[in-house]
Amino acid sequence: MYNVMSPKAEEFISHEEILDCLDYGQKNKTNRELIDKILNKARERKGLSHREAIVLLDCELEDKNQEIYALAEQIKKDFYGNRIVMFAPLYLSNYCINGCEYCPYHAKNKHIARKKLTQEEIVREVTALQDMGHKRLAIEAGEDPKNNPIEYILESIKTIYSIKHKNGAIRRVNVNIAATTVEEYRMLKEAGIGTYILFQETYNKENYERLHPTGPKSDYAYHTEAHDRAMEGGIDDVGLGVLFGLNNYRYDFTGILMHAEHLEAYKGVGPHTISVPRVRRADDIDPDTFDDGIDDDTFAKIVACIRIAVPYTGMIVSTRESKACRERVLHLGISQISGGSKTSVGGYVEPEPEEENSAQFDVSDNRTLDEVVRWLMEMGYVPSFCTACYREGRTGDRFMTLLKSGQIVNCCHPNALMTLKEYLEDYASPETRKVGDALITRELDVITNPVVRAKVEDYLENIHEGKRDFRF
Ligand code: SF4
Ligand code: SF4
Repeated sequence: MYNVMSPKAEEFISHEEILDCLDYGQKNKTNRELIDKILNKARERKGLSHREAIVLLDCELEDKNQEIYALAEQIKKDFYGNRIVMFAPLYLSNYCINGCEYCPYHAKNKHIARKKLTQEEIVREVTALQDMGHKRLAIEAGEDPKNNPIEYILESIKTIYSIKHKNGAIRRVNVNIAATTVEEYRMLKEAGIGTYILFQETYNKENYERLHPTGPKSDYAYHTEAHDRAMEGGIDDVGLGVLFGLNNYRYDFTGILMHAEHLEAYKGVGPHTISVPRVRRADDIDPDTFDDGIDDDTFAKIVACIRIAVPYTGMIVSTRESKACRERVLHLGISQISGGSKTSVGGYVEPEPEEENSAQFDVSDNRTLDEVVRWLMEMGYVPSFCTACYREGRTGDRFMTLLKSGQIVNCCHPNALMTLKEYLEDYASPETRKVGDALITRELDVITNPVVRAKVEDYLENIHEGKRDFRF
């Protein structure tokens, strides 16, 4: 029985409710009247239910699809302006006892190089990331209580925050580790993490169990209820994600929106972010063996419909996607991207020889951070290295209340310009700096409040003179 308020995974992600929605979506894929009604509701920018959203995803009326894309683009502009937040993944360890069939780190893969960074190696990796200009990391580790216990993760976070190198510092560490207990989530909270991110991979229980035949991750309910436990442990910002390609995309689209509704209803705060990875080629993994791969058009439609359904939730796309694909979905709702990423353990300091491959997936977008930043600016986006909310304690419902009131726009734009200026001064190539300084001058005009603008101009001058870390 579907119950959004239930603490049980199988009730807040009800299989029957999803099947019913999938049927509803198909029945109404050309129902102009209903699609118009849903689009009108979506224009109020308060989001849609999973049942409404699937109708838009399934819509087969070309003119209405164009309206869906235009609305997604408009909502993106209204909530996020032209800012794109930058981050990088940092792989700490690829030891893992799970049997996930789509991931090369699965325990049975005996030919992948297993690596775990020492604290000294973390210092070197993070220094290399700081030299690129990153301020926001997502740490990743496989599940292995012996090799990667919570103490190792906590120590690594402490090490990362402690590294001050030239003008650089990592100001926000997001964490992507296996589902765990309330007690361990509390420890992560105390270590000062940003978002706790856990991908569901697929919401279809039967497929989930087939894809996770062994290891603790095979427990569907424990995994699906992990975000609730994280919030119980005091972590305000949690991130959701599915791995598109593992299961029917319409099923997982509906499932992830139901999960978002559950968090909002049950915990009072919706997800901070939603990630939309697709299965990629990797050691021992051939994406063609999964039947449910989606093409770029479907991927773009999913991004647009999620943007409309949960306007307040950040959306992340990684370097799994190519430059062309990322360019397309940036317009439709993506608010955060990674740049210059290495998906292997220790990959930022030294590129790995082929025979020592420890990567989780093949990267499609191999450009440097400098190239990604310049590319974004040339398209009119403002790459942002801002972490102000987290550092000002604006997390969870405080963050959401601000975002919903539209007030955050008055912080984000100036913060984006100032953190971009820091990046340009400290890390950018001369060409990128030229493009960026011109962009900042243009973007100052967007700030209408003369007092804020004067302050930003003053801060920018200070940054040029070598001072750092201003924020609203
Ligand atoms: Fe381990 Fe995560 Fe890979 Fe599964 S997806 S094998 S849990 S690292
Ligand atoms: Fe994100 Fe807050 Fe910075 Fe805006 S001010 S970019 S919401 S951290």
